[in-house]
Amino acid sequence: QLFSAITALNEAFGALGRIHEVLDLPSETDLDVAAPAVLPGMTPDPVSRHQGLSVEFENVTFAYTSAPEILSAGKTSDENDGSVPDSEVGDLQTREVLHGLTFSAPAGKRTAIVGPSGAGKSTVFSLLERFYDPSEGAVRVGGVDIRSLGREQLREKLGYVEQDAPVLAGTLRDNLLLGNPTATDEECVDALASVNLNDVLERDPERLDAQVVDGGVLLSGGERQRLAIARCLLASPPILLLDESSSNLDGLSEQRMRQAIDAVAEGRTLLVIAHRLATVVDADQIIVLDRGRVVGIGTHEQLLDTTALYRSLAAHQLLTN
Ligand code: ADP
Ligand code: MG
Repeated sequence: QLFSAITALNEAFGALGRIHEVLDLPSETDLDVAAPAVLPGMTPDPVSRHQGLSVEFENVTFAYTSAPEILSAGKTSDENDGSVPDSEVGDLQTREVLHGLTFSAPAGKRTAIVGPSGAGKSTVFSLLERFYDPSEGAVRVGGVDIRSLGREQLREKLGYVEQDAPVLAGTLRDNLLLGNPTATDEECVDALASVNLNDVLERDPERLDAQVVDGGVLLSGGERQRLAIARCLLASPPILLLDESSSNLDGLSEQRMRQAIDAVAEGRTLLVIAHRLATVVDADQIIVLDRGRVVGIGTHEQLLDTTALYRSLAAHQLLTN
């Protein structure tokens, strides 16, 4: 009984994920104007091909607050202008987690973010996606304050590959089409090839029709994340946010992940919360965060020289959470 309850719950979660994803799909009018995806094997049109967009944090201060009604009104306790009773504000648990964060991720470059657990790495991504707004300072994408962009406008600029990338209950094709509902089978197969998932196709005769859960194709953590990267390749956003899995990868998976990141980094801006040395070594710049502050910016070699915290993170393979 417990087992079937768990199965039912799993299905419900799968369906819920699907509903969220469908609600998040661009509307048809947006699809008309969306830039065509640059796919592996296609010769990209030099005019339509984007080179990514810059991302800038300027003096960003942010505190989480435990009062959702105030958050939804777009205010933090610091900004409370009296529209919220002081009694409620008094009950708020607020703690500043980013203290005047300033950095820029140049268009078309790879920027890695590293730091101990709790440093604020994931919060940086949450602010970029506007799950929250900063209490001070500004977050800009392509030079534009993201508060002045519509939800749709912002979303089409960002692709997000989560740390433990979930797969949808459905086929491999279903999972890929979330990135771009108009992608052809050939484009899906190409995207899988560029993240080194061809063998997943080969181990199931159903190929793109293979179910990825419930006794279908089993994907390892690394493979799930590469599937999420393939989905992003099909969506082709100018900026990709990748929260790298902190689980250890074997040599082959490591190499495949590296190639997948190369594929997705081509022609776009990559921001990656890095847990693997290969990723930081390949980055154009690395930002070291510690307790909500930038304590170092540079390349791997430079930071080994200049930043003690970086040396110690690197010595522990950056595996912080
Ligand atoms: P990292 O990703 O570097 O481990 P986070 O950005 O997740 O760090 O967290 C930074 C700080 O903010 C931590 O102290 C964490 O406990 C806190 N924090 C993160 N998310 C929330 C949240 N939703 N509500 C309250 N505090 C949070
Ligand atoms: Mg995190």
